[in-house]
Amino acid sequence: MIAYFVMEIGLNAHIATYSGGLGLLAGDTVMSFADLGVPAVAVTLLYKGGYLHQKINPAGEQIEQDTHWDYTKHLKKLNLSLEVPFGDKKQKVTCWEYWVRSKGEVRVLFLDADLEGNDPDVRRLNHRLYLGDGIHRLRQEILLGIGGYKVLKALGYRPHVYHMNESHSAFLVVELLKEYGSLEEVRKRCVFTTHTPVPVGHDRFPVGMVKEELKSYDHMNWEEEGEDGHINLSRLALKHSGYVNGVSYKHMFVSRDIFPEHEGIDYITNGVHHSRWIHEELKELLDQYIPRWENNPHLLQGVYSLPSHLLYETHERIKKQLVNLINRTTDASFSSDLLTLGVARRITSYKRNDLILRNIERLIQIAEHYEGLQIVFAGKAHPKDEGGKGIIRHILEKSAYVKRRTHKLKIAFLENYDIDMAKLLVAGCDVWLNNPRRPLEACGTSGMKAGMNGVLNFSTWDGWWLEGGIEGFNGWGIGPKPGWQDLSPSDDGQDAEDIYNKLFYTIMPTYYHRKEDWIKLMKNSIATIGPYFNTHRMVEEYVGKIYINLMR
Ligand SMILES: *Cc1c(COP(=O)(O)O)cnc(C)c1O
Repeated sequence: MIAYFVMEIGLNAHIATYSGGLGLLAGDTVMSFADLGVPAVAVTLLYKGGYLHQKINPAGEQIEQDTHWDYTKHLKKLNLSLEVPFGDKKQKVTCWEYWVRSKGEVRVLFLDADLEGNDPDVRRLNHRLYLGDGIHRLRQEILLGIGGYKVLKALGYRPHVYHMNESHSAFLVVELLKEYGSLEEVRKRCVFTTHTPVPVGHDRFPVGMVKEELKSYDHMNWEEEGEDGHINLSRLALKHSGYVNGVSYKHMFVSRDIFPEHEGIDYITNGVHHSRWIHEELKELLDQYIPRWENNPHLLQGVYSLPSHLLYETHERIKKQLVNLINRTTDASFSSDLLTLGVARRITSYKRNDLILRNIERLIQIAEHYEGLQIVFAGKAHPKDEGGKGIIRHILEKSAYVKRRTHKLKIAFLENYDIDMAKLLVAGCDVWLNNPRRPLEACGTSGMKAGMNGVLNFSTWDGWWLEGGIEGFNGWGIGPKPGWQDLSPSDDGQDAEDIYNKLFYTIMPTYYHRKEDWIKLMKNSIATIGPYFNTHRMVEEYVGKIYINLMR
């Protein structure tokens, strides 16, 4: 049995306990576990107010509200009550379940300490995802790691593998050390996957704070675990794991650079659950020409047998659905005849979501030289990320500006990016633009979703795209292509220049004047990205490289 620990999970648009890539990956992973019959149980936290419900006011400011979702309708409460120590006090914890059912089935456990009789500060841990910092966040992580360990035990699980996804659950090693007595025994059972190359993504807490909260565990020497008086959860997870990996080949080198003292950091490149992300309309077409592609996504290389006009017509139908959504919810008046770029993901500085708007006059010129250009943006900024919020304001400002200047360039911003919106965007756009600053994209997954829908990637040479992208064959790169171990940063000006040049000289003329070539690129994209960048392949690697060794 594999115990898969993660702070957030994106199972469907109704279960609002996710914010971005990590959560969506967790959802896709458990779906592949279930399809492939891998014995696994997932452990996460319940967030009764979700992550954030986003509205944008006329000034372009993000308004953040609770997500109202009825967790009692989507999850089932277990008849279970146990205690988790927070400092001096023991607090009650229970959990809720959700089953992902396919050939096999995977149970997802949502821990809940928002119970009558508990301290208000502890009850708040289940309010929102990633809302607090300091002690609030420390306690959420204690709830996940220690509470998760105890819940599994109470339910009778005896996991062979504890898989920590990000370090949020690292406190579970405190319980494992107590149970197994030695570092060596704990390392035989723990796997740590690091998902971020951004140093702020690695949580740190003052040693004193950790000692105070975990004072009932006297087998830990926190001074010894600390560095500069702080406990770094990634280092705690690293030290206690027998296997550590990054999430793309490039990210392995980045992680080795962040944790030079840890030897042998490996990689397993992420994937996406192909059946979930390929649009229903395209699925029907694939079913006719590539039977069994859902069971075996390797077969997607057979996409070349699809008649080109059918593939393109299917894409156009999906695009019309997207254009309808945009025209229903914004005043951007999109047309389904124009080249449409999608830029949808978390909004934060390193992702440079607004890079394409850097030289707006140049972009207008490009659009006006051809039939036109449409760009649809979506994404949420973290409530404390002022940089991200500035990007949203900038996008709205430029969108209003181009509306006055030209009718050939159209810019829309869709509010409240979520799973259902993502499904339509990754299938209905023509080009998926992703231009994070190198080398900060650990892997990236939305481009995989787009690529297997025949939506062409236009992306920085970083993360998964360094492995999957073939210039001019299944999409295009942005900026210089670095060597695997080259960790030099991107230059914003140079990258923006590259975006404009490739749009003008390659992408727009191919789309408008060489449609047959365009459809070939779409097929190349599905045939090269579908067979490899899926979670079936990824899970098979986790099983074959790691789990199987720990389960002996
Ligand atoms: C796939 C997905 C993400 C992750 O996208 P990246 O571009 O890899 O950051 C985030 N949010 C939603 C809703 C998604 O579907």
